[in-house]
Amino acid sequence: MQQWLPDDNGNASSLHPEPQFKTPGFCFVCQQWTEFMSSWDFAYRMDGHLQVNWREHLVCALCQLNNRRRASIHLLMEIVHPTRRSFIYATEQWSPLYRHLRKCFPFVEGSEYLEGALRNGQNNPAGIRNEDLTNLSFDDKSFDVILSFEVLEHIPDYYRAFAECARILKPAGKMLFSVPFDTRATHNRIRARIRADGTIEHLLPPEYHGHPKNSKGSLCFQHFGWECSNK
Ligand SMILES: [Zn+2]
Repeated sequence: MQQWLPDDNGNASSLHPEPQFKTPGFCFVCQQWTEFMSSWDFAYRMDGHLQVNWREHLVCALCQLNNRRRASIHLLMEIVHPTRRSFIYATEQWSPLYRHLRKCFPFVEGSEYLEGALRNGQNNPAGIRNEDLTNLSFDDKSFDVILSFEVLEHIPDYYRAFAECARILKPAGKMLFSVPFDTRATHNRIRARIRADGTIEHLLPPEYHGHPKNSKGSLCFQHFGWECSNK
């Protein structure tokens, strides 16, 4: 296995020109043995050593889902137990994860936050539905399951987003979500917030996460901790 070894700035070393490497393994989603692709993109330092960001890599050669998304589907099946008759809302639509859901569940809705002239609930010419998680167009009690992976950290008013999700869930419905979470933190760490005039105030250095359609990425407003609130 030839690896790309980055220098301290994350740049490729000329001695190791191959940027990707493969790891054999079993894909839960595909239910077969396959190879997972990884690279040193998004690598980070831990204990003085550069670590592969396994969470965002190990992309299955068959289903194209990375480690995190395959784990999300694994948890969905093992914990939430959706059926073919479940009404499911996923807060993503461009992704290979949504395409997989579409194949498995006839009653799945997906959406993206399309910043433009579209109303909530409207589709763009490519058939992508526009939704704002803090002001969803769906009726009350519409869904058995809501899936939201790595989205809520990008929403300043995440309380409102959770309230909207609770509104559109049926009684005994379930929401499975993932967010950046610090298990040592008693409170959420607010990185940025919106001022009264609508501009963004950065409380910590801006952190952007990958976005499929925006090369700058999406601003992360908070990391979550064990915070409870009666808000
Ligand atoms: Zn797969």
